[in-house]
Amino acid sequence: MKIICIGRNYTDHVRELNNDLPAEPLFFLKPDTALVIRNRPFFYPEFSNEIHYEVELVYRICKVGKYIQQRFAHNYYNEIAVGIDFTARDLQREAIAKGLPWEKTKGFDRSAPISSFVPISAFPDIKNLNFSLKKNGETVQQGNSSQMIFSIDQIIAHVSQFITLKTGDMFFTGTPSGIGPVNIGDRLEAFIEDTLMLGCNIR
Ligand code: MG
Repeated sequence: MKIICIGRNYTDHVRELNNDLPAEPLFFLKPDTALVIRNRPFFYPEFSNEIHYEVELVYRICKVGKYIQQRFAHNYYNEIAVGIDFTARDLQREAIAKGLPWEKTKGFDRSAPISSFVPISAFPDIKNLNFSLKKNGETVQQGNSSQMIFSIDQIIAHVSQFITLKTGDMFFTGTPSGIGPVNIGDRLEAFIEDTLMLGCNIR
């Protein structure tokens, strides 16, 4: 199983980090050791002083595919969750400045808490899906799947030209604006529409 993450996929977030809008989906991978399931805590790592939350919709791949055309991409996922793409922003800034890879900044242990998955049939329109994040009870991020620069179908078409998708792979599809730091003792809660999907305590 692999975790494929899309960066810079919401215009307001691209602007808040002063990045250029991407011409094609920007993707990177997290290893399976990044996953945190069943609302288990996130342990603040010693190698960073600036861990940021990024709430994202997550799509689960349900069959093997390569060179998937965009018009058929919807056949390759059937469940949605919400997750947090924890990022060591201090290390990432350094990596970007030096042109180095992002694995250290994005792929570290426990950097991907995720809710349980819900069948897409449970939602009236997945192209218009609200999601949000609360930090210590206050809403800090709000997004809607319609705001993605590249839709999940476009993402699958692009990534599958390079990497074979397999059942169980997951796509983190980017974060809207409002990213920010966490500290030990904080609690994050992620929602799809009004349903609390994920709780994560920072320890
Ligand atoms: Mg992200």
